[in-house]
Amino acid sequence: MKVLVVGSGGREHALAWKIKQSPRVTQVFVAPGNAGTALEATNVDISATDVPAIVQFAKDNQIDLTVVGPEAPLVIGLVDALDEAGLKAFGPSAAAAELEGSKVFCKNLLHTADIPTASYQTFRSAADASRYINDRYTDPSDPVPVVVKADGLAAGKGVIVCETRADALDAIDRIAGQKEFGAAGNELIIEERLVGQEASVLAITDGETIITLPAAQDHKPAYDGDLGPNTGGMGAYCPTPIVDEAMYEKIESDVLVPIVHAMKRARKPFKGVLYAGLMLTAAGPKVLEFNVRFGDPECQPLLMRLKSDLVDILEAAADGKLSELPPLEWDERPSLCVVMASEGYPGDYEKGREITGLAEADAIADVKVFHAGTTLVDGKVVNNGGRVLGVTAIGSSVSAAKLQAYKAVQKIRWQGAWCRKDISDKALNA
Ligand code: ATP
Repeated sequence: MKVLVVGSGGREHALAWKIKQSPRVTQVFVAPGNAGTALEATNVDISATDVPAIVQFAKDNQIDLTVVGPEAPLVIGLVDALDEAGLKAFGPSAAAAELEGSKVFCKNLLHTADIPTASYQTFRSAADASRYINDRYTDPSDPVPVVVKADGLAAGKGVIVCETRADALDAIDRIAGQKEFGAAGNELIIEERLVGQEASVLAITDGETIITLPAAQDHKPAYDGDLGPNTGGMGAYCPTPIVDEAMYEKIESDVLVPIVHAMKRARKPFKGVLYAGLMLTAAGPKVLEFNVRFGDPECQPLLMRLKSDLVDILEAAADGKLSELPPLEWDERPSLCVVMASEGYPGDYEKGREITGLAEADAIADVKVFHAGTTLVDGKVVNNGGRVLGVTAIGSSVSAAKLQAYKAVQKIRWQGAWCRKDISDKALNA
C-alpha cells in the first residue's frame, strides 16, 4: 500500500520512518518533507496547507492512506477534502480540529463536560479584559498569577504566562489591542495560572474507542532548568515517572474518555490523535490544552518504543475499527529525544549552514536522528528551520537513553548548533 505523510517536521520524519517499517507498505511519500524524509521516503514538493494539491496528488498516485502531521492542514479541512474525494485519511475533520484551533471552544467544552481545567473568562475586547484585571486585582503590588491566551492558532506564541498586573495588561494589549497574532486574537482567554509538573498524554481514537499511549514529558522552555522563552519543544522522553499508574488511569477516565464523548455530543466526532497537555497540580491533573495531532517532539520517543505496526493502528482509527485491534506492543525501555536548534532560535536564525556528522550519530547503537528543519542543497544537508534535528535514543533506563542521545549529539556539527543539556532530568529527580 502507498502512504502519504503531510508535514515537514521531526514528527513527520518519525511517522514516515515507522510507517515504512510496515510490511504492508510499498511506498511512503512526504509532502513537503525535509532532508531526512528525502533520504528515507519520497518527498513531494507540495505545501502541507495546499489542500487541493494534496488531494490531487493522493488521487493521481492512488494513495491508500494519508496521515496528516501538523494542526494547520487539519484546521483548514484537509481530512474533509480527502474524505469527499473518497480517499482514506488519518486525522480529525476541520470541525473536530476546532478543539485545538479555538481555545475558547476547547475551554467551553471542558467546562460543559466537567473535565478539570484552570478556571477562566473569555473576552472579545482588550478594554473588557483589562477592566477585568483592574477590577479583580485592586492592589497594584499584588501578584497577578494569570495566563492570557489568544483564541486561535499562534504557533505556540499566543500564550503569555503572567506574574504582575503590568504583564497581564501588556499581554492583553499585544493579543487583542495590537493584534500581534492577527485574527487569532479576536477573542482571548484569561485563566488561572496553575502550578505543577507538565505532562503530555496522547490517545488514538476512532470516535468510539480510545487507545491511550504512554505518557511523555516535553521541555518547552528554551534553556536548561526550564529557563528562557517558550519554544515548540526542546526535547521529550517517554514514559515519564511523573505520571504514575494511578495518575495515568485518572487522566484516561477523567479527561480522555469524557472528551471523546463531549466531542460526539457537540456533533464533532473526533478521529485521530487527541493530545492532552496537562498540569499535574496538587488538586489532580488539569488540562492546559488539547492538540489534535501527535506532539512534536513527543512523537519521536513514542514511536521509537512502539513495536506494533503503526499503519494498522492509523488505518483502524480512520476506519472506525480500533476496537478490533489487538493490544499495542511497546518496547519496555524508555526513550528520549534531544532537539538540536539553530543559533538564535526561538528568535531569528540563519539558514543554509551545512550539517556534518549525521551518519556517525545515526550509527550509534539505539539512536535515530530525526530531521526537522533541514533541507538538501547540492546533496548536502543544511539547516532550514529553528528546530533542526531530534536526536532520539532508547536505553535500559532513562539515564542510559540520555547518555546515548547526547553521545550522538556530540557527533553532529554545524555553525551555531545548540541544545538543552538536561532533557529528562525531571524524570531522574522525580
Ligand atoms: P503549543 O505550542 O503546545 O500548541 P499553545 O500555544 O497551544 O502551545 P499551551 O500549551 O496552551 O499553548 O500553553 C503553552 C505553555 O504555557 C504550557 O506548556 C504551559 O507551560 C503554559 N501554560 C498554559 N496555560 C497555563 C496555565 N493555566 N497555568 C500555568 N501555565 C500555563
